[in-house]
Amino acid sequence: MIEVNNVKKSFGKSEVLKGVSVHVEDGEVVVILGPSGSGKTTLLRCINFLETADSGELTMGNISVNLKKANKKQILHIRRKMAFVFQNYNLFANKTALENVMEGLVTARKIPKDKAKEQAKEALDWVGLSDKYDYYPSRLSGGQQQRVGIARAFVLNPEVILFDEPTSALDPELVGETLDLIKRVAQKGITMIVVTHEMSFAQDVADKVIFMDEGVVVEEGSPAQIFSRPKEERTKQFLSRII
Ligand code: ATP
Repeated sequence: MIEVNNVKKSFGKSEVLKGVSVHVEDGEVVVILGPSGSGKTTLLRCINFLETADSGELTMGNISVNLKKANKKQILHIRRKMAFVFQNYNLFANKTALENVMEGLVTARKIPKDKAKEQAKEALDWVGLSDKYDYYPSRLSGGQQQRVGIARAFVLNPEVILFDEPTSALDPELVGETLDLIKRVAQKGITMIVVTHEMSFAQDVADKVIFMDEGVVVEEGSPAQIFSRPKEERTKQFLSRII
C-alpha cells in the first residue's frame, strides 16, 4: 500500500500542488490524468523525493515519513521500495543498455557485479532487447531506450513503479508497443502509478483513475465511472476535449 496525504508544493508564487492525497492498494494500477500544468509530474517527483514537497505525508506499508522533513535514511529506505520511469528515459549516455540496467543493482542494492549482470540480462530479455546488451543509448530508438528504462525499474523488484508520461516523448508508432510492455509489468502485480495522456491505456489497465486539475484531485474512480459517468464539470470538459 502506498498513500500520500495532503501534499503541497509551490514554485515561487505558483502553488502547483494544493493538498493532494492519493491511496494505492498493493498490486493496483492508478492512472493520473489531467491537463498540462495540473501538477501530475510534480506529484510523482515529490513522492520519490526528486522534489522536496512543502508539506505532506507518505506512507508505505508500516512506514510513514514527512515529505518535507524526511532524513536521508528515511529517503533511502523509501527509495529502495520504488522505481521511476522517466518521460525522457534518463539513461546514462556513457553506459551500455546492460550497464544502465545493472547500475541500480550494483550501487543501490549492493548486488555483486556478476549476479547483477545476470539479472540485468534477464530483464533486457524480458523487454525484448536480448540483442542490444552492448548498445549505447544513442544507438537505440526512443522505444528501445524506454524499454531499457522499464527494465532498469523492473529489475529492482520494487514495490511500486512510478511512470511519468512514459510514452509522450515517443514517435506515435512506438507508443503502442511501449504501452503493451507497461501492461505486462502491470500483469506481474506490481503496484503502479502512471501519469499519462493515453486514455485507452487508462481504460484498459487502470484499477483507478485520478483526475487532477490546478493542483487538486478533482475526481477519482474506476475507469468506467470516470470515462462514462464523470461527476465533476471539470472532468467532463477535460474528457470531451481529449476523447
Ligand atoms: P504536463 O502534462 O504538461 O507534463 P503536469 O500536470 O505534469 O503537466 P507539472 O510538470 O507538474 O504539470 O507542472 C506543474 C506546474 O509547475 C507548471 O506550471 C510548471 O511550469 C511548474 N513547475 C514544474 N516544475 C518546476 C520547477 N522545477 N520550477 C518552477 N516551476 C515548475
